[in-house]
Amino acid sequence: MSGLVAGDRFTERRRREALDDAVAFLAERYGLDAQQRKTLANVPIRWRRGGRRSTFRAPRDGSPGSITVSLPRGSLVRWHAYRRVRAGWATPRSGVTMDLAMLARLVLVHELTHALQHGTCGGPRRRYSEVETTRNEIEFLRRHQPEAMMSLEPVERRTTRATSSRRSSKGPSLFDRLLEWLRGGRVTSARARRCRAAQVPRPARAG
Ligand SMILES: [Zn+2]
Repeated sequence: MSGLVAGDRFTERRRREALDDAVAFLAERYGLDAQQRKTLANVPIRWRRGGRRSTFRAPRDGSPGSITVSLPRGSLVRWHAYRRVRAGWATPRSGVTMDLAMLARLVLVHELTHALQHGTCGGPRRRYSEVETTRNEIEFLRRHQPEAMMSLEPVERRTTRATSSRRSSKGPSLFDRLLEWLRGGRVTSARARRCRAAQVPRPARAG
């Protein structure tokens, strides 16, 4: 991937390279044809430095949709992804440090995914989802900068203590009873039988 040179200025050329990479990735991932790919590449983009959030604004009242890409200042920046169980992975609270050029690509992958969800390239509109945008960002990162995956945290569905204690006040839940059955019921004795069957005579002590 070109354009990954250090430097604070995000020139027109670097913007175009970032867009090319993001569009190529999404075109492959969604099987876009040449026309759809062109349409995606032509979603108007406003580039900003510092501060505000990046957004996708849906088309409305005849005006086309648009993307605002807000990049922080500096050449080494921090990426924050949504924390979604179905995405599987998330950035730690402090974010993941990366080159500005990579962050620009991830932002574009995210916002262009919203454009696809909105039906920008034809086809039915899909559900607006931050799971899909996050999955796409992570997959892009995995392909282009796999070592950065080490900085991500797995996101697991919380098996909340709060939920189980709330349940226990109304007697054991189905889950607890199942667990009890697994621990003390037939499974254990079956395992015990297997263990006995598997027992082998101890080797005789040497000497
Ligand atoms: Zn989003």
